[in-house]
Amino acid sequence: MLCSFSVLSSEKNLSVKGDLSQGGLVVGKSPIGTKIKLNDKNILVSPKGQFFLGFTHTAKPNQVLKATFPSGKTAEYMLNIKQRDYHTQYIEGLSKRKVLPTPFDLKRIKKENIALRKAFARLSKTRLMKDIKFSWPTEGTITGSYGTSRVLNGVPKKAHLAVDIANPVGTIVHAAASGKILFVHEGMFFNGKTVIIDHGLNLASVYIHLDNITVKLGDLVNKGDDIGAIGRTGRTTGPHLHWELRLGRIKLDPKLAVESMSRIFFEP
Ligand SMILES: [Zn+2]
Repeated sequence: MLCSFSVLSSEKNLSVKGDLSQGGLVVGKSPIGTKIKLNDKNILVSPKGQFFLGFTHTAKPNQVLKATFPSGKTAEYMLNIKQRDYHTQYIEGLSKRKVLPTPFDLKRIKKENIALRKAFARLSKTRLMKDIKFSWPTEGTITGSYGTSRVLNGVPKKAHLAVDIANPVGTIVHAAASGKILFVHEGMFFNGKTVIIDHGLNLASVYIHLDNITVKLGDLVNKGDDIGAIGRTGRTTGPHLHWELRLGRIKLDPKLAVESMSRIFFEP
């Protein structure tokens, strides 16, 4: 079995490095013009041959990466995805309406979900990050981990596919990596004040429950730039940042991206 961090190819022309784990993000570099498939699904490759692979929280252990090089030669690589155990977290004290929305609320939620889907459809197909590194967007205590099953006021909900970082209202939130502001919302039903940064190649980071937002749609941000402050807007029991990392529709574990990115590099 491969370890969670591994260089797959002994071939000099393809490098793939990162966290081969459920929720993991992997960065690859291939010769210009290479086509990449993961389990027969086309993967977006930048004009320079860079690509991201992302694995869901329930990703199966065995996956196949296929490269078709510009020469027409193909190569297949077996990926062994580390399987994780997740905990169940019970949260009480949420407003009843935030757990069981009324028909009126459901209309609003539907509208907000459409706006989100439209935003994610606009994600840049080229790379926008200056370097492929993430840092923690804020300081605080981690009060919610990726993958935990959540029971809210006794009602089982979907898995929590993000990291929650708690600190007082007003604690500055920074861009976790460079990119372009893709979405700004001043008050979503569940998310409250929300910012999404487009990092390119279908990769985005999402910051929710903010108290205030200091960036505008279309702004270019560098890693570490202020984008707003921790708040308790939307569905929360206390002030915290809910931080998501997404590759297209796949929600990844931001903590793994911070920890593994320092080990990621592109081979020349
Ligand atoms: Zn959360």
